[in-house]
Amino acid sequence: MTKAAGDTLLAASARAHGLTAPATRAALPTRPPTKHTVHWFRKGLRLHDNPALREGLVDATTFRCVFIIDPWFASSSNVGINKWRFLLQCLEDLDSSLRKLNSRLFVVRGQPADALPKLFREWGTTELTFEEDPEPYGRVRDHNIMTKCREVGISVVSRVSHTLYKLDKIIERNGGKAPLTYHQFQALIASMPPPPAAEATISAQTLSGATTPITEDHDDRFGVPTLEELGFETENLKPPVWIGGESEALARLERHLERKAWVASFGRPKMTPQSLLASPTGLSPYLRFGCLSTRLFYYQLTELYKRVKRVRPPLSLHGQILWREFFYCAATRNPNFDRMEGNPICVQIPWEKNQDALAKWASGQTGFPWIDSIMIQLREEGWIHHLARHAVACFLTRGDLWISWEEGMKVFDELLLDADWSVNAGMWMWLSCSSFFQQFFHCYCPVRFGRKTDPNGDFIRKYIPALKNMPTRYIHEPWTAPEAVQRSARCVVGRDYPLPMVDHAKASQLNIERIKQVYALLAKYKPQTRLQSRSRLRPHLRSSSNRPTMYSFDRTTPYVRPNNP
Ligand code: FAD
Repeated sequence: MTKAAGDTLLAASARAHGLTAPATRAALPTRPPTKHTVHWFRKGLRLHDNPALREGLVDATTFRCVFIIDPWFASSSNVGINKWRFLLQCLEDLDSSLRKLNSRLFVVRGQPADALPKLFREWGTTELTFEEDPEPYGRVRDHNIMTKCREVGISVVSRVSHTLYKLDKIIERNGGKAPLTYHQFQALIASMPPPPAAEATISAQTLSGATTPITEDHDDRFGVPTLEELGFETENLKPPVWIGGESEALARLERHLERKAWVASFGRPKMTPQSLLASPTGLSPYLRFGCLSTRLFYYQLTELYKRVKRVRPPLSLHGQILWREFFYCAATRNPNFDRMEGNPICVQIPWEKNQDALAKWASGQTGFPWIDSIMIQLREEGWIHHLARHAVACFLTRGDLWISWEEGMKVFDELLLDADWSVNAGMWMWLSCSSFFQQFFHCYCPVRFGRKTDPNGDFIRKYIPALKNMPTRYIHEPWTAPEAVQRSARCVVGRDYPLPMVDHAKASQLNIERIKQVYALLAKYKPQTRLQSRSRLRPHLRSSSNRPTMYSFDRTTPYVRPNNP
């Protein structure tokens, strides 16, 4: 843009904002236009690898970093307290990092479409920057904000940094359609330039003189709220198992990589009941909130592999991160990705509605200790192991209760710290055989699966104190314990712990038949679009190098079929 055009835009913007400077500016035509930046944090709660903020700071006179407590995300009805606490910790951490740069975080209460224009007028904003949101809701919201900004002459800079790639580019390369098999997805990205490297952390040098005007009432107007201020009861809240924030994320990344280096050098660790517990190297909530950059993770993993193995890493090294990318890509242009109806990639299955059964599952009252302990861990801590997710998702849907995956996804969305709109919906479709995966005849047994994973029942005892004294022999199916054993364990099933809510053998058999019928109908009516051949849907079965590497680099498990993501 020429300087004259910039001045005109600035004047128009100032007028539109009710600012009074145009006359002064007209008198000083040679003065460069001043840039007043607002960076809007949504995800991407970090100062490292933040290309949008970095660009906003170039030649800026002032900058303000804003987070808006958006009722869509914030409404306490569908976001659990652990998730709120994690978010507030992320904001505290961000505020503390910004203080080190003589700046602050501005936490604004309200809806972006109302709150932002008001603040722009108050602050004389000329540029808005934010990380590109790849999910459909965010795309619409951002489109609306961009339109509003353009109307008042505010320039908008949005940059990709939540995903490795600009997802639209992958889709373009695939003829305008999102790839729906991992194999196809991998082939596409292998033909593209590698993802851009992570950018350095914003520092005092990056600011190059840009400052943040901070008023005395900053804490009152823009401070990070407490859980109590948001209306949460905190009296009985247990200490957090996961601490939110970029600082914690970076410390974890370091530990994660150390562990990976050890694994790469000395072999795979065994899956133990300990693996089911929150790990100090777990990263998923940090990637979800963007406290950790996916690109930083990706490239640090690459470097580590080169150091340990002394060769260039295969694409499959990045398996887990690429699965994340795959689901983001599959969802980005599908606003119905999180529902069955109207979702072109989802098999329509006649699930049953059963509020009572759903509530028992969600609150860990199914009578199957393995399922219940997982659901209690989820509610108390906000994270459960991947295999544990498999177990409870299968149980709710095609395994035992025949309840729609959408219901399970909503419960995960409320409680899981790492719940990602795209990944969560994608994995629920996968587990319920509604998309991506169709081996409905493989069903997890809520007793045998638990016994293999947690043979002594330590995990169960940790989360279900009522079963603390139940002998190991019966801990996975306490209803089979003789009455005398139940009494001496001080846990009478049906009184101190629920009876199993279904007969797993019968329910799972019936459900396999039901889903078989759905697939048979699909094969009859839509052979091309719905039922692709096994190898097309899960081509990674053909070659081990294409297998998702979730368990190949740092974990082993005899319990999960390797073709599951
Ligand atoms: P690691 O195993 O160390 O993996 C590193 C990162 O890779 C993760 O943080 C995650 O971002 C990504 N990743 C790992 N596995 C997968 C996968 N199968 N698909 C996509 N990305 C993956 N993961 C989420 O991040 N968000 C979700 O909302 C989510 N919902 C799930 C729902 C169900 C029903 C199931 C079965 C799985 C779900 N997963 C989800 C995938 C997986 O369980 C978690 O990513 C993993 O357990 C996180 O643990 P970690 O940090 O140790 O991950």
